[in-house]
Amino acid sequence: MAKTYPTLPAGPVICPNCTESGNPIEMERDNLDVDYLAEQAPERGTEFQSYRCPDCEYVAVFRVR
Ligand SMILES: [Zn+2]
Repeated sequence: MAKTYPTLPAGPVICPNCTESGNPIEMERDNLDVDYLAEQAPERGTEFQSYRCPDCEYVAVFRVR
């Protein structure tokens, strides 16, 4: 069962956790090793990028293409 990831938004990535508590924080690019996701991706050439919230440490993974 392949997990699906949202496509990276064109604008800034906002932390959903902090938004819920009324304080939208822009997430920063993270260097999480996401190569294993590309290997499992149903389409070849898919790349992933992780983002981390500098405030609450929430990590989100997006499809870059
Ligand atoms: Zn946050």
